[in-house]
Amino acid sequence: MIVIMRSGAEHGQVERIERRLLEEGYELRKVEVGGKTVFVAAIEGVTGGDLVGRIRSEEGVEDVIQNDILFKEVVRQKDSGATTIDIDGIRIGGGGVAIIAGPCTVESYDQIMTIAASVAASGAALLRGGAYKPSTSPYSFRGLGRQGLELLRAAADTNGLRVVTEVMDVRKVAEVSEFADVLQIGSRNMQNYDLLREVGRGDRPVLLKRGLSARIKEWLLAAEHIAHEGNERIILCERGIRSFDTSTRNVLDLAAVPLVKEQTHLPVVVDPSHATGRRNLVLPMSLAAVAAGADGLMIETHSNPAESIKDAQQTISLNEFNDLCTKVKEVAQAVGRSILTGAAVYGR
Ligand code: PEP
Ligand code: MN
Repeated sequence: MIVIMRSGAEHGQVERIERRLLEEGYELRKVEVGGKTVFVAAIEGVTGGDLVGRIRSEEGVEDVIQNDILFKEVVRQKDSGATTIDIDGIRIGGGGVAIIAGPCTVESYDQIMTIAASVAASGAALLRGGAYKPSTSPYSFRGLGRQGLELLRAAADTNGLRVVTEVMDVRKVAEVSEFADVLQIGSRNMQNYDLLREVGRGDRPVLLKRGLSARIKEWLLAAEHIAHEGNERIILCERGIRSFDTSTRNVLDLAAVPLVKEQTHLPVVVDPSHATGRRNLVLPMSLAAVAAGADGLMIETHSNPAESIKDAQQTISLNEFNDLCTKVKEVAQAVGRSILTGAAVYGR
């Protein structure tokens, strides 16, 4: 942390800050710059960062620059490689591209069975679908609940797929874990710290979506909460962030993909469906995401997109999904990667 005292700060005020930092365990260098006292303070290990606010509110302090180490678990350690998360034979983060596909919401046996069979044949390795759905309006469909989980599991097992589904409530973590291979924490819950800690205490890999307006630092701190509880099997998911422009549902922050991969050892997948909210943008953004280094994609697809109970406008047809897989494979190959296909899973 760097503490800049006001010019003309009283001797007692400067001393008080110096004492405070030393008491907290900081190593200090005190320099005089342009008539101001500046403390360069460093501490071994991770801090919660709370001291910054307290120092900033002290008399005689002009500004505090926070550069303490806030992460321990999710940061990329020197010489440590990327983490590969093995989901029952599908290794996410190992260079291959994992495709997660399925409807926004599990609607019925026929719906999920048809979609699962088709996406598996096209190249998806994991099946998505909401059983417990977050919804902005309390009057929207909230999902089939446990029945949805059962249908999702059956559809995945029949087709050699793994299950990714959202858990919204601390009280449902055990139930969703019974059926899911990967627990999804949705955007709206990225800062639900009790929920993060609960999935952190479990053994299911977690797909952590970026919050609606979350900074990268906040997103990584959310991941740190999970890792801190012991579960390091975390997959980050960039799904677009709020901006002033309403042309697309969100703004897909593609730069976040290489940036986060530089800063952490965790795999990063991209969800172009929620990021754009537009069916015709899902393909180009998928290709761009793979070219940018994404470890996977999460795509909403449906046998009859127009009839999709939720998110119809961003849901692509099964044919479009098949075409997307073909093109993603080409881009993957062009950048020296391949798709973790259903076929590889069938081969187990
Ligand atoms: C979803 O994937 O079903 C979903 C609701 O996404 P998000 O949390 O990104 O809005
Ligand atoms: Mn959706």
